[in-house]
Amino acid sequence: SVERSPDIQTVRLQLPVVAEEQKIMEAVHNSNLVVVYGATGSGKTTQVPQFLFEAGYGSLGSPTPGMIGVTQPRRVAAVSMAKRVGDEMGNQGKKVAYQIRFEGTVSQDTAIKFMTDGVLLREVAQDIALRKYSAIIIDEAHERSVNTDILIGMLSRVVKLRQEMAQEDQSTKPLKLIIMSATLRITDFTENTTLFSEPPPVLQAEGRQYPVTTHFSRRTNHDYVEEAFQKISKGHKKLPPGGILVFLTGQNEITQLSKKLKEAFRMGHTSTGPQVRISGKDAPIETEDIDFGDFGDDRNDDFDEDDEADIDVGEDEEFKLEGEEEETGPAKMHILPLYSLLPTKEQLRVFEPPPEGSRLVVLATNVAETSLTIPGIRYVFDCGRSKERKYDKNTGVQSFEISWISKASASQRAGRAGRTGPGHCYRLYSSAVYERDFEEFAEPEILRMPIEGVVLQLKSMNLQHVINFPFPTPPDRQSLASSEKLLTYLSAISPTGQITSTGATMSIFPLSPRFARILLVGHLHDCLPYTIALVAGLSAADIFIPSNQAIPQIAALEPDTYLTALDHAESERAAAIRRHFNAVQKSFCFLDSKSDAIKLLQVVGEFAHEPTETWCISHFICYAPISPLSQPWHIKINSHHRHRNR
Ligand code: ADP
Ligand code: MG
Repeated sequence: SVERSPDIQTVRLQLPVVAEEQKIMEAVHNSNLVVVYGATGSGKTTQVPQFLFEAGYGSLGSPTPGMIGVTQPRRVAAVSMAKRVGDEMGNQGKKVAYQIRFEGTVSQDTAIKFMTDGVLLREVAQDIALRKYSAIIIDEAHERSVNTDILIGMLSRVVKLRQEMAQEDQSTKPLKLIIMSATLRITDFTENTTLFSEPPPVLQAEGRQYPVTTHFSRRTNHDYVEEAFQKISKGHKKLPPGGILVFLTGQNEITQLSKKLKEAFRMGHTSTGPQVRISGKDAPIETEDIDFGDFGDDRNDDFDEDDEADIDVGEDEEFKLEGEEEETGPAKMHILPLYSLLPTKEQLRVFEPPPEGSRLVVLATNVAETSLTIPGIRYVFDCGRSKERKYDKNTGVQSFEISWISKASASQRAGRAGRTGPGHCYRLYSSAVYERDFEEFAEPEILRMPIEGVVLQLKSMNLQHVINFPFPTPPDRQSLASSEKLLTYLSAISPTGQITSTGATMSIFPLSPRFARILLVGHLHDCLPYTIALVAGLSAADIFIPSNQAIPQIAALEPDTYLTALDHAESERAAAIRRHFNAVQKSFCFLDSKSDAIKLLQVVGEFAHEPTETWCISHFICYAPISPLSQPWHIKINSHHRHRNR
């Protein structure tokens, strides 16, 4: 039995999920499939695995000896949740382990195994019956990542298979599947009869643990990094003790803000640590692998303006917390970055207590949006945006765009302030923008991307008829059919739809099948470095600045218009730029005047030789290849606001 420390016991008993233990376990007992819904902080991730453990799952000698597998969308969540559950389980703590792409602590004694969804996907591919497990918990299913969706589809079949096996042979036990979600948007699972012929029972645990007060900004500043800097600086001086968690969209912003804060509060220099290398051949693909990080300064120069008056809130009012007359927090800041490309070890630093006399300030991307409980966080500053991969459905070219998060995400972010005590969430956008521009929920990732990568992944798991795969939200048949056609053309699958050895190799790359194929051909012809450069160029959005943007446009003049000296200078300047522009384009094409691919290769090669913004400017190449116009908060530009020039 589990002996927990009294402290842990007290905390556990307050969690809404714990009150539902009996109902949840009854449902698990009666049904192979159960959905658990509970608002963020209700105790799903930490408690449900322990309920299963205490009911005998994962224990040798019990009727259900297989491990309890728990999936997380992110590495840092898998590692930190394993640690937390281990701590909670006291004398049994050693039975909790994790497995992520390059490392793990799983042993023979492991009863509860936290892992990324990529790890479990790979295990399903190796053993479709998942014999090592007696129960699987798919956590954070509301995030609707492609991996989660595929896992749920696969597992619906694994559960059936195990049921059949158990009926034939008493020594095999059915597999229990528990899907956990922090939002009530679960009808894609519960009402999808292709996925589950009978609707699974839904167990609810209501109520967030601690109240979080939300504060909207009066107006929405387009420069949210600056806005965050201002607000955090003020907040740090005025607010009672408690950690600050800041949501930004990417590594560059984090580095930038970290530097500003450190300068303002006179501290040492920024260190964001080395980057994770992506190389493992035998490793599963995790969300982080397809996250290429930043493409430079990607902030937008356009304004969005609220319908509300343009009043700046006085700083005194803004951070005055009603009813709280506590002293302000410590004077020093302990600033830590948290983003997915940061090595897991570095990410885990946020869980350590800050040095005596300093306030913990975590600058994070949406890595910190779900799962994590960072002890002591009391204030959340949310920029309301996130960076998402966007694909051109026709070319498969991906870009990163910053857009508004959903209302569901905003509430997840706010929830991070109420994990270990009551908290406050400062939204760096107005309630008008929130109401008008935020979707209720984010669209499932699978509907936002070209499907051929997913099809290839399924084929690599020996699924021949992808059309029959029980997707929670199925992509349309037309695009499934055209993906198969493309994969056949790329020799990734045979004409009968089976994966080829080429296809199997291609499925290992965290790249679209087209690009994976290019790399393989490059390897075959011994020119891999060039093909890597080429794929790098192709997988970025449009990198060339078009001539009409590069060259100043001079209005055509009437024949006998009197030209001022200024007009002359202007048109001469334009002509000079045009000459330079043409010369540059020509030089890019000197190896081959007809091939766009060779031109692109030349650009990437030259840039690699001199990777500076200056080079880009003088060669009419976008340093930050993110189109400002496609950013959703480009709403309207008020005339009294000047445009900053890039
Ligand atoms: P859910 O998955 O429903 O969002 P969790 O099970 O992750 O909730 O966490 C429930 C609560 O347990 C948190 O709100 C927090 O109070 C406590 N908790 C979880 N992890 C930690 C931790 N590392 N340190 C302190 N408290 C924690
Ligand atoms: Mg959770």
